[in-house]
Amino acid sequence: MEFDTTLTQSAHYLKQALPIMIRNRIPLTPLNYSICYCYVVGSQPELNVEFDQILARYQSCPPHLARELFDKYLSQQDLALFHEISHSFQGAIDQVQNGICETLESSQDFSAFLSECHYGLHNLKKRGSEQDPRAYDEVLEYVSRLTREAVAMQQNALGFQNKLEVAYDEIKLLKEALFASQREANTDKLTGLLNRGKFDEDIVSFCVHPRSKQKVLIFVDIDHFKRFNDDFGHQKGDDILRKVAEKLAHHAQGRGDAYRYGGEEFCLTLSLSSVSEAVSFANMVRQDIRKLSVKDKKTGEPIRQITASFGIALYKDGAPWQSLVELADRALYLAKSHGRDRVEVAG
Ligand code: GH3
Ligand code: MG
Ligand code: MG
Repeated sequence: MEFDTTLTQSAHYLKQALPIMIRNRIPLTPLNYSICYCYVVGSQPELNVEFDQILARYQSCPPHLARELFDKYLSQQDLALFHEISHSFQGAIDQVQNGICETLESSQDFSAFLSECHYGLHNLKKRGSEQDPRAYDEVLEYVSRLTREAVAMQQNALGFQNKLEVAYDEIKLLKEALFASQREANTDKLTGLLNRGKFDEDIVSFCVHPRSKQKVLIFVDIDHFKRFNDDFGHQKGDDILRKVAEKLAHHAQGRGDAYRYGGEEFCLTLSLSSVSEAVSFANMVRQDIRKLSVKDKKTGEPIRQITASFGIALYKDGAPWQSLVELADRALYLAKSHGRDRVEVAG
């Protein structure tokens, strides 16, 4: 596919593509962006039809469908193009920002300099007036003219400055929108934790990047949550999900990340010293979750305690990341089948 890559054009398309992505919670990955870019350019009508259908059906574009669209209509070249565009756009942003700072400084310097000259020559005239006052009158006249011109120049610079300020604000907003959209795309709405999409992205780098400590994945699943919803209602269920998430985020702080994996399942990617540390950590979180309960409105007595089961897996260097997920899942299954509200370690 042929794209117009001039900066003005790409900025124009970026402005159109971004709201589409934000509105539909489409993560700002190069692949998704290439699709949306192609969509706003409108160079492939079939892609637009299919993309519209996907948005209507899913209110977003799930990763597997984005991949299909990309394979069908776009190429690696388009992906490289995205990097080029985004790189040059970032460069332009930096240039404009630097330009603004320089213009502000130079216009301030220029007017300060002129005032200083004016003042200096005025003093000179005072001191040398007995010798040749006309010569100084001439100099003064010359300086006055310079000052008048400088005022005009300053007015021009002010106009330029205003334009730059508008551009600055616009680019700043665009940048903020990009960050906000990325944050939104990575966050689970109900709990505020990182979401499944972010986990799928992060788990790969979690496994690949070397760390001095042991890499640990823990799956957490609330026990008999279906029953809880049935007995207390979905709203109360949502409350519990938020409270459990809060506890997980709190305990993960400084050790790693907490995600909502889906439904009433969560997971934690952590860097810990040993298996025993992982087990004690999981047990501490488990005990903390046990503190959550539904109380009788009249007596204040707890009528339903919340418990969760934990599956721990430790990463073996060089293994595929999928095996880590499978191990944690298997450990969680063991915790469930051994009676729930407990911690099991894979292998
Ligand atoms: P187990 O101990 O074996 O995990 O039993 P469970 O009932 O927790 O597991 P099951 O998979 O049978 O049910 C999960 C329940 O989680 C069913 C579903 O209604 C509920 N659930 C999933 N997502 C949400 C949500 O966002 N809000 C609420 N309130 N409930 C949810
Ligand atoms: Mg469950
Ligand atoms: Mg479950």
